[in-house]
Amino acid sequence: MSQNAESPTQESTPLSLQCPRSRFDLLNLRTGVRFPLRCKSNRCFVCGPLNARMIAWAQARSEPERIFRLSNVPTDWDQARRRIKQVRERLTDLGYRQNEWAFSLEPNPSGEDKAHAHGVQHGTFIPQPVLQEVCHANGLGIPYIAAIKSAPAGTAYGVKAAGAAFYGVKSAKDAREHQDAYERFLDLNGGRISHHTRGFYRLPNGEQVTQGEAIRHLVDQVQTDRQGQEQDVWQVVGKQTSLPSARVSKLRVLGTPIGSRPL
Ligand SMILES: [Zn+2]
Repeated sequence: MSQNAESPTQESTPLSLQCPRSRFDLLNLRTGVRFPLRCKSNRCFVCGPLNARMIAWAQARSEPERIFRLSNVPTDWDQARRRIKQVRERLTDLGYRQNEWAFSLEPNPSGEDKAHAHGVQHGTFIPQPVLQEVCHANGLGIPYIAAIKSAPAGTAYGVKAAGAAFYGVKSAKDAREHQDAYERFLDLNGGRISHHTRGFYRLPNGEQVTQGEAIRHLVDQVQTDRQGQEQDVWQVVGKQTSLPSARVSKLRVLGTPIGSRPL
């Protein structure tokens, strides 16, 4: 691809929050609008919160039936994971076999060296006393579980629950301002934003899918809604690639005849 010293720079784009790690842009060949592709890393202060938002959205879209909180969870991720796994296994042994979870750990606000697990559940109703006894037997504190009542409120609540992911990170700006809290959140969760058991994610038609498939379906839906006919004019280009050279490259790829002096 040819380069052009006058190609648009990041400063010329209308978006104020751009992934600082990205090496490529998405360029609209018709309008010239461009913005950086995301690096998609959870550790990136622009992409991390966006990842959290998409995960929370995909979780809410799965329409879980209940919200839950586990307390007195260890702050070491491996220990926390083991305890929570034991709780789920014990519940399965007790007959609660249909029990899919998605959760994130959040540091205990009291400042003790403990965490809470905030999550959402699909499956069989688990009475509070049963859950409490199983948690107690596995070294966890008093849990909370409740039905998500109405669909609209449930959706909001689901996002809020999944949104332990939002701890201090409601936006990329927040993530930068609360860098320590965001880093701690990720460390507490083993570098991930959310955890889920197999079968948790569902599409609007009820089909059970992986988290990746749920998010791809969501993104496809959003892109179809927003771009409509324009979908085909977006192209991934290098930072230095100008609009004219991107257009010419596209034409070459398509095999369309071009003039002798395209630039
Ligand atoms: Zn990024």
